[in-house]
Amino acid sequence: MVNGLDAEVIVVGGGVAGIAAAAALAERGVDTLIVEADDELGGKAKSVAIDGTLLERGPNSFHGRHDAMWRLLGLLGLADDAVPLAAVANKRFLVRDATLHAIAQHPLSLLTTEALTWGERAAIVREPFVAPRVASDDESVAEFFTRRFGHSLTEHVVAAALSGVFAGDLAALSMASALPALAQWERVYGSVIRGAMKSGKNGKRGVFRLRGGFSQIGARAKERLRTRTGLAVAAVEVGQDRVELAVSDGPILRCRRAIIATEAHHAAAMLRSARPELATVLDEIIYEPIAVVHWRAPRCDLPAGFGLLAAPCEKLFAMGTVFTGDLMGTGDKLYASFVGGAHARDRAALADTALLAGIRSDMNALGVAAPDLSLAHVERYTHAVAQPALGHADRVRAIRAAALPPLALAGSYLGAASLGAAAVSGFAAAQAVLAGLHACAASDAVGEVARG
Ligand SMILES: Cc1cc2nc3c(=O)[nH]c(=O)nc-3n(C[C@H](O)[C@H](O)[C@H](O)COP(=O)(O)OP(=O)(O)OC[C@H]3O[C@@H](n4cnc5c(N)ncnc54)[C@H](O)[C@@H]3O)c2cc1C
Repeated sequence: MVNGLDAEVIVVGGGVAGIAAAAALAERGVDTLIVEADDELGGKAKSVAIDGTLLERGPNSFHGRHDAMWRLLGLLGLADDAVPLAAVANKRFLVRDATLHAIAQHPLSLLTTEALTWGERAAIVREPFVAPRVASDDESVAEFFTRRFGHSLTEHVVAAALSGVFAGDLAALSMASALPALAQWERVYGSVIRGAMKSGKNGKRGVFRLRGGFSQIGARAKERLRTRTGLAVAAVEVGQDRVELAVSDGPILRCRRAIIATEAHHAAAMLRSARPELATVLDEIIYEPIAVVHWRAPRCDLPAGFGLLAAPCEKLFAMGTVFTGDLMGTGDKLYASFVGGAHARDRAALADTALLAGIRSDMNALGVAAPDLSLAHVERYTHAVAQPALGHADRVRAIRAAALPPLALAGSYLGAASLGAAAVSGFAAAQAVLAGLHACAASDAVGEVARG
């Protein structure tokens, strides 16, 4: 302990955001400690081995366009462990009228799929000629797509695609915060389709998984960074250039700067007395619950691919299913279904037997034979995915304005709830803390000179 401090900077929360913040600070030689409530680091990004098979408990892949993820993996020496998904995973399925339809990822490929009615295909052709919106206030995802593509495509296709990302309600999600790139395409090119064609030419770098599973991130952070696990911070007290962190049933930890990198509601709870106005806005960030149900069915006749998605109007039990064996490239008949979300919150808390029965009924409804279907692992999250809901940009602005030094905040809820967003927020928090520490060092130096 130097100067009565446990570390120069303490990062509360060892998920991807916290690890990114701590790794960036450690790289710059700042004495940094991660304090994590769980026994393992990684937050949602964790894996589990069941009967020798690696299963992802939360995220299964990340998009290569997220530079911050590459920077994080580089800092942890894991960049070479990021591998593109197997080619078969380029095939995705949309459920429409209880039938699986293969769809490619480019919007124009939707023109040739039987998953869409002729009216919906015509709406895609018409979209480049739909006048862009002039108003600049926040618009919901449902309003945006209905305006540009019509209600039917929004309800059957967009709702399916987004249930796989946010598990949310299109009428409640903010277009500008949930899908900023598409909102920008309308502003810049006057059309989503035109924007998609231009961005296609720029070439994205595809989708990646982590060899050895996403737990590698936490495991590598444990090896390379100063960490203390199994310590839950209950309250934060902010003093003159010093922060005190009260740990539940534990010591008080002291540092000069703290980065709170937990989920928004946990951050709100620990900041309630020190920064009540900040806690109030953090409490407004809502999360949807999800159960991730891993199952196997050795004789399952689902086709190969990344997975299937179903819009809520299809009335299936699960929002979607990832074909884990194909995604990992093993071809094992192993699957992960995502249950719950905004349209069926209670389902995320169901008992194992009810989850299994629900998935069986989905396979029956789809006409998929899956004898010997059995559970491999269930992961339940009461707070799975933060919702970039209407007003999100204002909330994030308010959070940033209130999270003044010696505090900084990080977490994927500050962006669009992905691994990439978590890493971006962690690096931004580290940058803010570094700037503050440099400013302090400069004023200390001036003080020394003045004192002679
Ligand atoms: C089922 C599921 C599937 C997903 N799939 C994908 C995907 O395929 N691709 C993708 O990009 N994203 C995906 N995501 C989103 C992604 O996993 C998250 O956005 C990201 O991992 C969040 O990271 P984070 O560091 O912001 O928060 P978290 O991972 O939630 O980390 C917060 C950490 O803070 C700790 N903490 C909380 N309270 C305290 C306290 N009082 N004291 C100390 N520590 C505390 C927690 O234990 C936790 O470790 C998925 C999420 C879920 C739930």
